[in-house]
Amino acid sequence: MNASEQPPRVRLRPEIEKMQPYRQGKPAAEDAFKLSSNENPFDPIPAVLEAIAASSVNRYPDGAATALRATLAAHYGLTPDNVHIGAGSASILAQLITAAAGVGDEVVYSWRSFEAYPGLVMVAGATSVQVPNTGDHRHDLPAMAAAVTDRTRVVIVCSPNNPTGAIVTKDEFVAFMATVPQTVLVLLDEAYIEFVTDPTAVRGTELLADYPNLVVLRTFSKAYGLAGLRVGYALGAEYVLDAARASAIPLSVIEAAQRAAIVSIEHQAELLERVGHLAELRDRIWTSLGEQGWSIPRPHGNFIWLPTGEHTAWAAEVFSDNGIVVRALAPEGLRVSIGEHESVEKLLRAAEEVVVKLRTPSTEATLD
Ligand SMILES: *Cc1c(COP(=O)(O)O)cnc(C)c1O
Repeated sequence: MNASEQPPRVRLRPEIEKMQPYRQGKPAAEDAFKLSSNENPFDPIPAVLEAIAASSVNRYPDGAATALRATLAAHYGLTPDNVHIGAGSASILAQLITAAAGVGDEVVYSWRSFEAYPGLVMVAGATSVQVPNTGDHRHDLPAMAAAVTDRTRVVIVCSPNNPTGAIVTKDEFVAFMATVPQTVLVLLDEAYIEFVTDPTAVRGTELLADYPNLVVLRTFSKAYGLAGLRVGYALGAEYVLDAARASAIPLSVIEAAQRAAIVSIEHQAELLERVGHLAELRDRIWTSLGEQGWSIPRPHGNFIWLPTGEHTAWAAEVFSDNGIVVRALAPEGLRVSIGEHESVEKLLRAAEEVVVKLRTPSTEATLD
């Protein structure tokens, strides 16, 4: 074959070829803090390490995750049939979108929201309908309800919303559910629910009995610090979860993940105490940012949203120069996770440097 001659390309789905592979939060330099993936900064508790060590590796895991489903069912007062386990709640999102929406069908969600949603909808062959957030970075639920058509198969509600940190209130959610047809699957993505201290926030587990078309998604990755083991869960109607189970890649939730998740529920009080510390730290950082001159929505997850707009790439560099790796989501803003106590001083120094420049009109032109 002539070296300059390209072999014919295999035929791929054109819409998939155009997609960007998932971009992970940048790895942090040795002395930098990686605050780009909303990870939990705490080391695992000894009981989790013991559970991992006790897991077998030469055998396949229990594909039905029987023990973990029983643990979660007892915890929430449900039956194990109303619980589904996935290798991260992102994989359950993929399963449910694929199960409900195909070519010609629509999936409605807010934007900006979780970076994974557009790709998962695209891979399913369905069409994304993105409803812009309100001016204060919240879901616009009336507009989302209005975007539902006969082609809509799934609506995703993310509370707290990644990356803006805003919650949906229970009242807003109930009003929204009253207008959405019961034949449309509503996914309430609560990846950060454990960090929520606002009593007005929606909590899907309290509403499952009222809405048979509601599925609640939760994860052990964030509050429970098991991101590296990949384990999340869905709660909802058995036949809907059966469709997710049918769409899943079999045996992808490993035994170590199942065991670590069970132990985490057993040690919930200890782990949620850590979550409480992170939530306090978040509130303190938010207050300090306000004093610096930032006008940002109250954060409810383990991260803070800085609406840096067109200056996002520059602002991310300022953070990087200060030893903080953030998630830059241009052209809207950047998201910075609540991490180690030692990272706070650097975070605030970087944020101050950014806000001072952003607030000085004469320097604005030279930022990028
Ligand atoms: C992190 C995250 C998830 C899922 O994480 P997994 O590690 O796959 O469980 C889901 N939704 C949102 C909004 C997230 O931020």
